[in-house]
Order: sequence, then C-alpha cells, then structure tokens
Amino acid sequence: MAIMDRVVVVVGAGTMGHGIAELAAISGYKVYLADINREILNSALSRIKWSLEKLKEKGRLREGVETILSRIEPVVSIEGEEFSKDLEEALREADVMIEAVPEILELKQKLFEFADRVSKSTAILATNTSSLPITEIASAAKKPERIVGMHFFNPPVLMPLVEIIKGERTSDETVKAAADFARSLGKQVVFVEKDVPGFIVNRILGRFLNTGCLLVEKGIAGIEEVDSTAVYELGLPMGIFELSDYSGIDVFYLVFKAMSGRGFKVRPCRLFEEKYNAKELGVKTGKGFYSYPGPGKYTKPAISKDKLGKVSPTWLIAPAVNEAAWLVRNGVATIEDVDKAVKLGLNWPKGVLELADDYGIDSIVKALEELKARLGDESLEPDILLREKLNKGELGRKTGKGFYNYEGIEEKRLETILLKIEKPIAWITLNRPNKLNSITPKMLEELSQVLEELENDERVRAIIVKGAGRAFSAGADVTSFTAANPIEILKFSRRFQELTLKMQRLTKPVIVAIHGYALGGGLELAMSGDIRIASETAMLGQPEINLGFIPGAGGTQRLPRIVGPARAKELIMTGDMIPAREAEKMGLVNRVVPDDRLEEETRSTALKLAEKPPIALAYAKYAIDYGIETTLDNGLLLESALFSLLFTTEDVIEGVSAFVEKRKPVFKGK
Ligand code: NAD
Repeated sequence: MAIMDRVVVVVGAGTMGHGIAELAAISGYKVYLADINREILNSALSRIKWSLEKLKEKGRLREGVETILSRIEPVVSIEGEEFSKDLEEALREADVMIEAVPEILELKQKLFEFADRVSKSTAILATNTSSLPITEIASAAKKPERIVGMHFFNPPVLMPLVEIIKGERTSDETVKAAADFARSLGKQVVFVEKDVPGFIVNRILGRFLNTGCLLVEKGIAGIEEVDSTAVYELGLPMGIFELSDYSGIDVFYLVFKAMSGRGFKVRPCRLFEEKYNAKELGVKTGKGFYSYPGPGKYTKPAISKDKLGKVSPTWLIAPAVNEAAWLVRNGVATIEDVDKAVKLGLNWPKGVLELADDYGIDSIVKALEELKARLGDESLEPDILLREKLNKGELGRKTGKGFYNYEGIEEKRLETILLKIEKPIAWITLNRPNKLNSITPKMLEELSQVLEELENDERVRAIIVKGAGRAFSAGADVTSFTAANPIEILKFSRRFQELTLKMQRLTKPVIVAIHGYALGGGLELAMSGDIRIASETAMLGQPEINLGFIPGAGGTQRLPRIVGPARAKELIMTGDMIPAREAEKMGLVNRVVPDDRLEEETRSTALKLAEKPPIALAYAKYAIDYGIETTLDNGLLLESALFSLLFTTEDVIEGVSAFVEKRKPVFKGK
C-alpha cells in the first residue's frame, strides 16, 4: 500500500506526540492526532505549523506547509470518563498507532486495551514510553504480540534514532513492521531485544551523567572540570552538567528515578535531586548547574580548557562502558547497535564501545575499580564480559581485538580526517562530527596530502570517502566567510577546486558513501568521486543561494555534467535539499541503500573494483572524464589510444588467459 493510503494515529499531542504526528505527515501518512481537548490540539497544530515553516525556510520540505498540515486531523480523545467515538473511528482506520500520553501505567494500559479491541488486527500498536515496561502496558490487551515500544527522541522531527523495543510477548513480525515504519519516517533504528528499564540510550546516559555528578558530590572534582573533560577530551557535543541544564534536570531526574524504581541499580547522585527540589531545572528556569540570562534564555556556558587534567576521561566513560557490556552480555542489544544508539541518540562522535577499545579495556576496568572504591557505588563492579576480555588479552585497539577487530587494519588520525587502510581498500573519514564535517582549509590540506599518499600506496586499490557522525558533510565551514574578502575567498575556492580535481584525477577509483547531509561543499566533494552510494535518509543539495552566493567548488560545473543543466539550475537556484531517492532518480547518486547497510555496500563495491585491473580502471575513468569534455571525434580517438595501450600490459594477458582457462584472474597492475 502506498504511504499516502496508510493511516497513523498518534495519541497524546504534547512534546513528543505533536512531533511524531508532524514527522508522519511529512512522510506522507494520513495522521489523526488525539488529545483530551480542543485547546491542546490547537496549540499542537500551531506548534507543528511553526516547525514546518522553519523546515520549509531551510529547504528541507519538498511539499508546501499547508499540504502537509492538511494530512493531520485533530481528534478529541475522551468523552466524560471514556475514550471517544472519534478516537474509536480513527483507530478503526489505523495501520499504526503511536501512544505518547503521560508516563502513567494505568492510563497507557487502558488505552492499549481499547486500541487492541477496536483497531483492525493487522495494525501495529506502539508506545513511546521512556521508562514503563512494554509487557505491562500490553498486559490488558488480547493481542499483545502486536504491541511494541518505539522510543523516539526529542525533538522527533530532528533526532535520527528510534529504539524498537520488544516486550515479552511482542512478535518478531511486529518488531520488523515497527522498524520498517520508523525507516519510512526517515529514522534509523536499533533493536532492544529485552524490555529492560531505560532501553539502551537512557541506561548509558544514566551511568554517564550519574558518574560525573557523583564526582562533584564527593568533592573529587568541580562541575567545570568534569565538563571540560567531556567536551575537550572525549569530544562530546556538551558537558555532563551543560547537557542536564539544556535538556532539563527534571527530565533526567524523573526518568532515572523511574528506571531505579524498576531495578536499574545505581547509587543516585544527590545533586540532581537537590536541583529538582529547588526548582533549578536548567535553561528553562534560568538556573541549573550553570546560570543563564533568564528563564528559557540560552547562552552556552563557558567551559574552560584550563580545567582539564583533574578528571580522567576513563572515569567518565567506564561506567557507561560497563553498562554497554552488560547490555551486550545479556543479549539486550548488539555491540553495533549499542554504539549506533549512542552516536545517533546522544550525538557522541564515537560509540561507547569504540571508545572502550580506544582507551583499552584494561584502563576501563582499572577506572571502574578506582571509582567503585571512591564513590561507594557497588553497581560499578566490572561486568563479567570486561573481565573475560581482560583475561583473554582482548584489550582493544592496542592488542588488535577488543569489542571490535582491528587486525590487519592501520589507522592514522590527522586533525580533521581519519585514514584507515584495510587492504586493498582505504577509508578516508571526514572527522569533524560536531561540526557536521564542515570543510575547512585544514581539511582541504589534509585531504590533498592523504590522496597523494594513497595514489602511491601499492596496497590500496580502491578508496572510500565518508563522514563521521551524523552526516557526510554539511558543506564548507562558512563561519570564516563573513570576515573574509573576495580575494581570500577566491583562493579558498580555487584550492577547493584543485582538491576536487585531484580526487577526480586519481588513478584509483573513489567511492563516496553519503549519509545524513551532503550539502554545498560536501556535495561538491562527493561529486568528484567516481561512484556515489547514499543511505535512504540522506539529503543532498546546493543551498549556497540561500546565503547569497553560489557553489564555489565545482558545483556549477559538475552538477550539470551529472544531472543535466535544467535540473542543476533548479537545485542551485532554489537551494532546496533533495532526498536520496530523488537524487538517485536523476543520477546524482548511483544507488540508495538502507542506512544500516551503507558501510557494507560501499565496502563490497570497493572490494569488487579492487579486483579489477588497475591500469584499465584508470584508463576507463580517464576515457570517460576527459572524453566527455571534448568532441566525439577526439573522445573516440582517446578511447582507441588508451584501449590499444592496454595491450602492452601483463594484466591483459592474465585477463585473457584466465578467461580461456575458466578461472578467476589475478590482476597485478602491471
Ligand atoms: P507531554 O506531557 O508533553 O504530553 C502528553 C500529552 O498527552 C498531553 O498533551 C496530554 O494532554 C495528553 N493526554 C493525556 N491523557 C490523554 C488521553 N487519555 N488521550 C489523549 N491524550 C492524552 O508528555 P511527553 O513529553 O510528550 O511524553 C509522552 C510520552 O513520551 C511519555 O511516555 C514519555 O515518557 C515519552 N517520551 C518523552 C520524551 C521527552 O523528551 N519528552 C522522549 C521520549 C519519550
């Protein structure tokens, strides 16, 4: 069934519900949004409208605000003490229901009993609960196998992750259908196989925040000392106390309290409770751990680098690693999903288990033992899985194996990029995840240097370029643009163009893996690769026009060569972003793959190319790239010249003999 024929009912139009309804309408579903009265519904609709207008301004909507809004129909959900007829009718039509009412078990149970009774048997019924057991929410329903947790993050329209939680009686088909539905909303999913309190993200966050807080409560460190380690050493987007203030101390306090009530063992930090009782909740009240200009007025707290050194980064992450190890050992989630959840749900540049491997499992265990003694928190006893790894000598990167395998892999970290050689492939990762990998002069310099190295590295037969964190690259770093004069900008533009030419002219094939955003300079860089593979939720565009300028790193030249002048003009002149599928239709990307298969698909394409004869690959690339710039006559001549030249290579002899002998050729590039 097409999405526009499918019906989503969102019950609860508060913080989460209105956002989920907006998201479903943007994705093309017919949406019923239910809440207890008209006033709340009207206010939810105006919040949605405001948000849609903002998205439209940023070029992130393909349809008009009114068209999207017209898909949402408000429904008053109760009549007296009972659920209303209108809600019943909406539920009869529903393919999916998402519940986002307050965190009260009896209320949710009553709603699910009702929805289970009145909706069609194929409908999926999902709860967005943060802390209640899915199994208990489903307990009054006759068909609990179709009840599932879908934990969105705030704000749902922007946060890329949904945790899919399996209750004790949820069927595998329901889990799969919920994941497909989340993906159809443009989200990435992780699977929580057992209904544990706090799922993945809140459990890890809970350990992380609580540890930082306990260090301060015990007088071991100051607030800023904890936060500077989080920001400057671990590279996180915000410090522990900064984040608590930003999101609301009450939000964390109440979620963690509910998790503790359900058996999440932790020695709770008193400072959160004190702030909660004093109604110093952070940005929203104008004061939390830091002070702000007024209620709801945000200025970023100044966290000084001078405070570094007092708090070891392993102290801050060890309890989170311990929690992750517990989740993995108990079959709640896979190593990959734990790390994905942390990267997408908390915006960490690296997964918690990747960090464990970086710092070393031995250092993590040592930090846990120190913390346990100093903080008096029994839950910090190192998990059996960590002890096992320690005994086996699987300490992480330094021993070639930890949570991940590093054997045969060589890595080099520059300031803005990461180079990984995994013979015969090289991975170049744009590595400024907190800035959506925006491209700086330093990055251009480092890319240029690395491309040169790879061109001469005989182990490498194919190159992949990708982005770290949530995007490929959101473009050139424009923060320096306003102060610069035209001549400096000209130099930057020329340097960037030279880099794109260097990439295009490499003798080795370059595959670009696009996820999140490839915008402006990011797309221009991507267009200089030979093959582009995008993930389903990627967005591409040349939005420069919205800032008053035009693409300056080849966009006005390569884009028309790839998609034709008319389409290029539309993209460049409107500045609109397009989703990956549309980019695929116009040939701007070769292929679109599910988000969680991007790495695998890119790797297998690179491996395939790496088996081909290198000289012929280079000639094929040159014949096309240079041929297209010249007349047909000259292009054909170029083709013949390169074609015949290949008959001087050993690889042609190998290729032809292997063909005759019916075996796989082994090309040497000679
Ligand atoms: P909220 O208080 O902002 O919104 C809840 C809405 O439900 C209110 O508008 C309320 O009027 C409505 N409601 C109450 N009874 C109802 C009924 N019988 N029928 C229809 N609507 C009814 O709460 P929220 O922050 O949006 O949280 C909703 C759910 O999402 C909770 O389970 C919460 O744990 C979960 N959650 C919240 C966040 C977050 O950051 N706020 C994140 C993830 C999950």
